[in-house]
Amino acid sequence: MTASDVLAKAYLESREEVLPVWAKIDETVMANHERVLDSFISERVALHHMSGTTGYGYGDAGRDTLDRLYARVFGAQDGLVRPHWASGTHALKTALFALLRPGDDVLAVTGPSYDTLAPVTGEGGLKGFGITYRETDCLSLYEEGRIDMDAVEADLSSKIRSETRVLYIQRSRGYSARKSISVSSLLEFMGLVKRRWPGLWTMVDNCYCEFTGQVEPPMLGVSLTVGSLIKNPGGGLAPTGAYAVGESEAVARVAESLYAPGLGSEAGSWAAGYRDLYQGFFLAPKVVGECLKGIAFAASFLGRLGFKVDPGPLEERSDIVQAVTLGSPEKLKAFAAAIQASSPVDSFATPEPWDMPGYGRQIIMAAGTFVQGSSIELSCDAPFTEPYTAYLQGGLTKEHVMLAVRRAASKVLGV
Ligand SMILES: *Cc1c(COP(=O)(O)O)cnc(C)c1O
Repeated sequence: MTASDVLAKAYLESREEVLPVWAKIDETVMANHERVLDSFISERVALHHMSGTTGYGYGDAGRDTLDRLYARVFGAQDGLVRPHWASGTHALKTALFALLRPGDDVLAVTGPSYDTLAPVTGEGGLKGFGITYRETDCLSLYEEGRIDMDAVEADLSSKIRSETRVLYIQRSRGYSARKSISVSSLLEFMGLVKRRWPGLWTMVDNCYCEFTGQVEPPMLGVSLTVGSLIKNPGGGLAPTGAYAVGESEAVARVAESLYAPGLGSEAGSWAAGYRDLYQGFFLAPKVVGECLKGIAFAASFLGRLGFKVDPGPLEERSDIVQAVTLGSPEKLKAFAAAIQASSPVDSFATPEPWDMPGYGRQIIMAAGTFVQGSSIELSCDAPFTEPYTAYLQGGLTKEHVMLAVRRAASKVLGV
């Protein structure tokens, strides 16, 4: 067989292999889409809610209804959905500063946090305000697909102090080799925390995880859940922003932290209007389903061609990230370049490793996206270090992911 025959054969075999996975994803999409639709109906979303407001934004019904809509879909008491947040990192920072006070301690239970959180928890952030931030990885150590909750309990017992106020959980893997945190692990964990440490806040970084399953963290009793609108819940349409949903007191504190004590959630206008935020949220379950289908195919296809992939094509997923280990700087560059070249926007650009703001190491990123840097759209990024693993995520349609991955494989393999 010629190399191009090998590629064509792998493509067809992978399409077959993932059909049952796709059928399961369809069920998740249907359940989430129904919950989202019913929430729009219950909140009586109307055409006038799409319109923008100016100035202080007092009485902005579009903004307030969007807050309630998110709360309902996520099963939370309250929500705050704001385009005023520049990014997910900004929202996570706002939330940490909302829950913590000088002298308090936060314990991250899923190991090292996402790269951009390091400056937030360091000297210029929490630490500089006299708040300690510590990490343990007890909730991310899977053995044969399960987390040993007795080990988690023992670890937490030895690490939680009287000053500890927040247990911090990052569900998605970030640029690390661990598994993402499934709903069932989170359910068990929350059971443990409610039983042993009921007075602690729990906070979830939900970036990349929304709508990958039928249950969201607030439904499990998580105090505060935070994510970015240029990822899953924005559905590819939201131009910017982030959300926080959870217990009323926690969300109220976040609003005071984002705006000002006393202002809370009642101020803040958005002249451009909320249509993209509503419509994107309506489409989000479907778009996330497309991502999941696309990366399941990518895992199967690239795995067949000999690349190390994680998760595998048939594994249960709780985020939209697919790790593909390319193994050399040249191959990583070629892969990223081919993803960029298969994008609808900026296809002519060539990604180069650079010192991206907030990241302590060089990152190469392919993102030929309609919304700058949006990673619910097909994108691929990677720390430019050993073992040269690319993190592939997003895709507004599974077909786009399939086309791009086929072209990228062909480029890397030189056929
Ligand atoms: C993307 C991401 C963030 C940060 O979000 P930005 O919008 O890029 O600032 C934080 N945590 C996780 C797990 C992420 O995937």
